[in-house]
Amino acid sequence: MLNLLHVEVCQNVGSLLTEFDIKKLVQTEFDSLEEIILNKPLLSENFSTDALKTHVQSIYCSCEQEQGIHVKLLKETIIKIYVYRLNQEDIAIETIHKDGEEISAAAHWMLPSDKFFGLWENLFYDPGVKEKLVNFVETAMVYSERQVNPHIISWNKVILLHGPPGTGKTSLCKALAQKITIRLGHKFTRGELIEINSHSLFSKWFSESGKLVMNIFNEIKILLQDPKALIFILIDEIESLAHARKACTTGSEPSDSIRVVNALLTQLDNIKQFPNVLILTTSNLTEVIDVAFVDRADIKLYISLPNEQAIYSIYSNCVEELMRTNFIRPEKIHDMEYLKRLNYEENSESKNSLTLYQLSCKSINMSGRTLKKIPFLAHALYNQARECSLHEFLMAMNFAIQWQTENS
Ligand code: ADP
Repeated sequence: MLNLLHVEVCQNVGSLLTEFDIKKLVQTEFDSLEEIILNKPLLSENFSTDALKTHVQSIYCSCEQEQGIHVKLLKETIIKIYVYRLNQEDIAIETIHKDGEEISAAAHWMLPSDKFFGLWENLFYDPGVKEKLVNFVETAMVYSERQVNPHIISWNKVILLHGPPGTGKTSLCKALAQKITIRLGHKFTRGELIEINSHSLFSKWFSESGKLVMNIFNEIKILLQDPKALIFILIDEIESLAHARKACTTGSEPSDSIRVVNALLTQLDNIKQFPNVLILTTSNLTEVIDVAFVDRADIKLYISLPNEQAIYSIYSNCVEELMRTNFIRPEKIHDMEYLKRLNYEENSESKNSLTLYQLSCKSINMSGRTLKKIPFLAHALYNQARECSLHEFLMAMNFAIQWQTENS
């Protein structure tokens, strides 16, 4: 039963309609729909009215309980509509210059950004992983707003995603920041994401690092003064802080390195108190990370290598993209629900989808990063990027998976 439907509506940048008008247009569109497609954007060419086509770029529906793709709207279903516009500003980069090398230390995006458009729906995990993250952050923000005493109920706004490299942790953090900015659009007028590249900051020891950390946090504190701005701080590869500490204690690194690590930890502790900040961290270590900061993370979520269902979604997505770009002649790829209903039995309708499912099972133990390269390898190595049928392409993918397994 569908209790609550979240509907994210991306309004065209040039559109002058008010949020109220956009909501009315969307509501009318929904009144005429038999069923809703979840977790897949509905693009403007599929809208039924010209007004909606003119003003709206895409509509994305999701809900917490449902795992299927198609759902029927009920009279009781509460529809929450979030209207947003994409920010088209380019990313701003903070760099360190040393010995002729330029190293990126922090990057800054205004959210919702067109650079992250579609990122969320193109990340595939076990059912519930992404929803859990959104619920967690929304709860933390409500606690923050109501000033729930953290000495009575323990909570804070630090998330750690850890797991093998290439499993989409960094992408998920960015997509989450974008999603939360959209969902909390009624409280905050914009989001800002600052990604601190701790790997480049701490992998080499520069006296500049300390100064840079101070500069970055001074800027962040200025941003935090605006209560209408929601600030996300993303620290990638947090384990490099732990390595840096260890290297200091064993005496193999100069002592100002420990000062830089400590400065960063103190600064993070300070800014956590602000109601409009959220700290997102990632680590490639699969075991428990021994670093002071990580102990403070409330939600530590292990992001595993994708299972066959997630792989199937990644591959289907890739193949559909190659159909869109005329490399593969269009053919229906069924979703996993359909294959399950058929009990994985082969018929003329399910044949290609079943082959894709078998390829997914063969690709277990590959990271999302590797999986997304397979279609390209299939083209480059076995198909010379010519137009072909889905069946031919799946054969090429099979070779590419074999090649990848032998060469990794
Ligand atoms: P990590 O931070 O875990 O090393 P990244 O976020 O850098 O991983 O992801 C690397 C690439 O792999 C990105 O293009 C990302 O979209 C893709 N990717 C990884 N895991 C998944 C997944 N589960 N679903 C879809 N894409 C994925």
